[in-house]
Amino acid sequence: MRSLDAIIVGAGPAGLACAATIRAAGLDATVLEKADGVGAVWRRHYDRLHLHTDRNRSGLPGMAMPRAYPTYPSRAQMVEYLESYAARFDIKPVFNTTVSRIRRDGSQWIAEANGGAITAPVVVVATGIADAPYRPSWPGSELYRGDIVHSSEYRNPAPYRGKRVLVVGFGNSGGEIALDLANAGIDVALAVRSPVQILPRELLGFPILTWAILYRRLPARVVDAVNAPILRLAVGRIEDLGLRRAAKGPRQMVEEDGRVPLIDIGTLNRIRDGAIQVRGGIDRLTSDGAIFDDARSERYDAIILATGFRPDLRQLAPDVKGVFDNHGMPRVTGKATDAPGLYFCGQITSPTGQLREIGIEAQQIADSAKRYAASRSALP
Ligand SMILES: Cc1cc2nc3c(=O)[nH]c(=O)nc-3n(C[C@H](O)[C@H](O)[C@H](O)COP(=O)(O)OP(=O)(O)OC[C@H]3O[C@@H](n4cnc5c(N)ncnc54)[C@H](O)[C@@H]3O)c2cc1C
Repeated sequence: MRSLDAIIVGAGPAGLACAATIRAAGLDATVLEKADGVGAVWRRHYDRLHLHTDRNRSGLPGMAMPRAYPTYPSRAQMVEYLESYAARFDIKPVFNTTVSRIRRDGSQWIAEANGGAITAPVVVVATGIADAPYRPSWPGSELYRGDIVHSSEYRNPAPYRGKRVLVVGFGNSGGEIALDLANAGIDVALAVRSPVQILPRELLGFPILTWAILYRRLPARVVDAVNAPILRLAVGRIEDLGLRRAAKGPRQMVEEDGRVPLIDIGTLNRIRDGAIQVRGGIDRLTSDGAIFDDARSERYDAIILATGFRPDLRQLAPDVKGVFDNHGMPRVTGKATDAPGLYFCGQITSPTGQLREIGIEAQQIADSAKRYAASRSALP
């Protein structure tokens, strides 16, 4: 059984960031990744995806995104950046290695993987959320004869030409996939069940994250109250478009409910010009479409579930108690947990950008892991 200072599970942005910071802290870390390359999830995102967060606030610790990249880099540039990041810090993950279980054995953690078991006093779980697409079902789901896919399986409009498509969910993936389909001339509707919040990608000429970061130390209620009139002006009257504005402001929504507001990159304009129709929540599916909460019935050839992800990390560490909430999400990310030496990075929804938060967490984890390693070596 191999032994080292730290095991990092996952070679996405969080795993790579932790590898760089933990190594810089003087610890020996290895990264185990089930795919055959770094940034596997970014490689399979839909074709038109660009970052919603700007380049200056989406880089990982120790290496900014190249200046040659546009303000909002493309998916392909994100993959290129992650490859360069791994090369720059000489991070060589062990690929095609799926960690099936993490367990404690005395003062060590054991990561059981298909390549064997590895032990270390520190383990960082950086497995993201993308492996747990949430697929709701409705009464009548079993009758529906069209295709139902999750947004994580969507690539581009090509398979949907000539079809009527219903996109379920008004998060960033739902909004952008509906936009992608509408721009390709496809008949598309968005099913929006709950009241929403919408942010422009830029406000007064600055990326929206600039404002979120500027106000990050103020209470959410205060920030939302101050911003409400400006946002109303920037976004316009969404009630005229069949949408309902959430009572909670965008920052409160993220902090209290973990729901990310839609950062609008053109979806609203296509709703305004009628290319994207807005419908309410789905009451049930029929053999060839959906019946909505207002009893309206429509025919759809395909349904795309932009309904997010619901990971349950208890499956990975079933014997570890006290670190997960009732949904199997870590109670604490980016800091020491109640299980000494066990860390989580990246399983967060942040009002100031997830990639930016990953960088902050990675640094905190490295500092904490270094202290933990020092306290262990000081033991008699
Ligand atoms: C469509 C979309 C757009 C986004 N756009 C932005 C944006 O613009 N800005 C932003 O800040 N954030 C954005 N995000 C959030 C984004 O997912 C995160 O910022 C970031 O990619 C998360 O990185 P991660 O390393 O935590 O997870 P991931 O990128 O999901 O990486 C996790 C890695 O762990 C591996 N893995 C999982 N389980 C195991 C296992 N058991 N054993 C071994 N390996 C394993 C996976 O194969 C994967 O490579 C977006 C998310 C989505 C879905």
